[in-house]
Amino acid sequence: MSFKPANNIQDLQYFGEFGGVNPSISDSSTYTFLSAKTMFDTFEGNADGCYLYSRHSSPSNLYLGEALAAMEGTETATVTSSGMGAITPVIMQLCSSGDHVISSRTIYGGTYAFLKNFTPRFKIETSFIDITKLDIVEASITKNTKVIYCESVSNPLLEVADIKGLADIAKRHNLKLVIDNTFSPLSISPAKLGADVVVHSLTKFINGSSDTVAGVICGTQEFIDDLRNVNDGACMLLGSTMDSLRSASVLKNLRTLHIRMQQHSLNAAFLAEKFEKDGLKTVYPGLKSHPSHNLFKSMMYDKYGFGGMLTIDVGSIDKANELMELMQEKNLGYLAVSLGFYKTLFSAPGSSTSSEIPDEEREAMGLSDGLIRFSIGLDADIERTYNMMRECMVKLNVLDPRISELG
Ligand SMILES: *Cc1c(COP(=O)(O)O)cnc(C)c1O
Repeated sequence: MSFKPANNIQDLQYFGEFGGVNPSISDSSTYTFLSAKTMFDTFEGNADGCYLYSRHSSPSNLYLGEALAAMEGTETATVTSSGMGAITPVIMQLCSSGDHVISSRTIYGGTYAFLKNFTPRFKIETSFIDITKLDIVEASITKNTKVIYCESVSNPLLEVADIKGLADIAKRHNLKLVIDNTFSPLSISPAKLGADVVVHSLTKFINGSSDTVAGVICGTQEFIDDLRNVNDGACMLLGSTMDSLRSASVLKNLRTLHIRMQQHSLNAAFLAEKFEKDGLKTVYPGLKSHPSHNLFKSMMYDKYGFGGMLTIDVGSIDKANELMELMQEKNLGYLAVSLGFYKTLFSAPGSSTSSEIPDEEREAMGLSDGLIRFSIGLDADIERTYNMMRECMVKLNVLDPRISELG
């Protein structure tokens, strides 16, 4: 049977305790054992199907983990209390003092800060490079390198990683390829392209209701078992455990992800094309002008499109702020960080989610002050949205109405 991420979610079947159509929520932090021997074996990790303590695992968290593993095509997965709570233990599990990480220089601000400012305390050093250049990636490998880290579609510049090419390098040098797939769930399946570990912030598209913070690590059974090991597992010991009530809630939202992603992508593609025609500097992987348009195409499941994220550059932070405030006033979306909500969300990454990155580095990677990042919502009538956004842009002289009228 061929691998189709959304089918794999749909084909899972769990019943609740009383034949409910949803699995029962495990509302316990600890579990009883009929025999002391089984308790001992569970500590040792040899008693399948037994639960010990909910920081280790819980039935509700296992259901959600299995669904996400099915989506990503990995052996298994473990859910965490945030995206950062997924990323940080993965790095800490794979690296020891003296090790080296190669990371894309355009990544989520929190991940950047962790690798730049936090892991050096443990003598784990990171080279931040242009991940789209495979020769630079390979040239950055040292004898201490353990991990190649990047996002399939990067935040906020929407650079696209050549996952197959990176996996090839990782295999040849015996490194682990870790991919953050938060921006492209269902569209791209990094594990199927050779990634060893796939992480997500579930806070974004996957949960999709901006009501919770959550994360997941998808990988081999061996790696997930290592993370959960009571003696030296980074998930178990650092303790970013998801609450069962929350994982039950995320699982229910996951079921509509395929429909939501299609609408996010349709709407984003519509706006990106219009904005580009209007003469705005627009970045969207679905545009032919995007430098990695063909690469994204070669990796994607067509149906889910190029995702819901796009950026425009309006020249200055003042213009960006004015435009975002006006769009919010017209109820076209919210001036807010995060993504994947039913409403459009916009923010200026230079002064918000990427402010951890120093000015010089932001300039070098092309992260300009006038950049606005949009997470396009599920608007039923995107043409109306476009017309209203255009009015805002014309009013603020961001857009010259003659350009699109002539074009
Ligand atoms: C938001 C985000 C994270 C961090 O996730 P949290 O759930 O906020 O901890 C990591 N990576 C990417 C790409 C993100 O957008």
